[in-house]
Amino acid sequence: MKRCTRCILPGTFPGIEFDENGVCNYCLNYEPMKVLGERELERVLSKYRDKGDKYDCLVQLSGGRDSALVLHQIVKKYKMNALAVTCDFGAITPEGIRNIKRMVDILGIDHVWIRQDREKIRQSKENTKTKFHGWLKKPAINTIVPVLNSGDKTLELQMYNYAKKNKIPLIIVGSNSFEQEHFKTGFLGVFPDDRGEYSTYDKVRISLKFLMCFLGNSYNYRLSIFKEYIVAATVFFFESVVRPKGIEYVVFYDCIPWNEKEVLSTIYTQLDWKGASDDTTVTWRIDDAAYPLMNYIYYKLVGFTEHDEMYSRMIREGQITREEALERCMQDHKPRLAPIMEFLKELNVTKEQLDTALENYREKLQDHIVK
Ligand SMILES: [Zn+2]
Repeated sequence: MKRCTRCILPGTFPGIEFDENGVCNYCLNYEPMKVLGERELERVLSKYRDKGDKYDCLVQLSGGRDSALVLHQIVKKYKMNALAVTCDFGAITPEGIRNIKRMVDILGIDHVWIRQDREKIRQSKENTKTKFHGWLKKPAINTIVPVLNSGDKTLELQMYNYAKKNKIPLIIVGSNSFEQEHFKTGFLGVFPDDRGEYSTYDKVRISLKFLMCFLGNSYNYRLSIFKEYIVAATVFFFESVVRPKGIEYVVFYDCIPWNEKEVLSTIYTQLDWKGASDDTTVTWRIDDAAYPLMNYIYYKLVGFTEHDEMYSRMIREGQITREEALERCMQDHKPRLAPIMEFLKELNVTKEQLDTALENYREKLQDHIVK
C-alpha cells in the first residue's frame, strides 16, 4: 500500500494526494499546533479556585488516558477542588470503570455518574443491532460511525445541567487535537477544522448525507431509529444554544500541549492507570467498547484505522519518528478479538458473517477508494 513518505497516511485516506516526492497534501498544508499556554489556563482557574459553593470545577472523566491526566493535573498541580463526572452511555469498558474507581480513590475526590436511563440504553442497543444487521446487508464506508457509535448525544448537555444545578461554575474536559478522526466524515467528503469542529454548512451536509444513507437502507425504517437520528441531529445543531449560560468551559489541551509520553508516564505512576487487559499495546480509547470493532472494519476495508491518522499528526509534531509510527501501527492494527467477539455477540452477528460481508464490500470499494 502506498503511504506518504513524510507521515504514514495511506493512499486510501479520503482526499489524499501525493506530490512528486510522495509527500501528501496533509503534510504539505500542515500548520503546527498552537496552544494558549499555561498562563491562560492559570488565568481561568484562578477565577474559580476556592470560590465554588462546594466544588470549584467539574472535570469530565471518561476512564481513558487523556482525561485521567487532566484530572490529576487539575487536582494535584493546580490545586482545584474538583468533582469528577463520568457520562455513561452504556459502552464504558470494564477497564474504563476500573480506572475511574481507582483514580478517584487515589486522588480522594468526589465522583458522580451521569447515566442514560436503562430503558434508553436498551433501546439504543436494540437500534444498533438493527442498524448493524442492515449495514451488513448493504455496507457503506461512510456510515460505520453512526451505525456503531450510537451513544446518547445528550449526555454532554446533561453534564452542563448538572453543573448548573449544583452551582459549579467551570467545566474542564480533556479532548485534544491529536486524537481526531477526520477520515470518518472525510469518507462523506466533509472535513472538520484542526480542532475537530464543523462549520454550520458542513453540519447540514453531514446530517443530510447521513439521512440519505439511512433512507437508502430499508432495514432502518423503524420509528425508534428515526427518532434517534432526529435527536442526534438536533443536538449536533443546537447544543450550544440550549446549554445553560454562565458556565465556563475549558479544553485543558488547548492550553497545555498534549504529549503522549508525558500523559502515560504520569498516569501509570501516579494514578495506577491501566491499559486494556487483552494483549494489546493500545492505550487510546480503551474506555469505549465500540472502537475495537470499528477499527477492525476500517482496517479490513481501507487498510488503515484512526491510529494511522493520529500517528501521522504525532510525526508532523515531532513526537514520534515515521519508523516508530509504522511499527506501532503494525501492533495496533492487530484485531482486539476479545472485545470484538463480545460486541458481535451482543449484536447477534457471527465473525464469519461479518468477514464475508466485509470481503464482498471491499471488492466493490476497491474501484472507488483504493488508488
Ligand atoms: Zn503526509
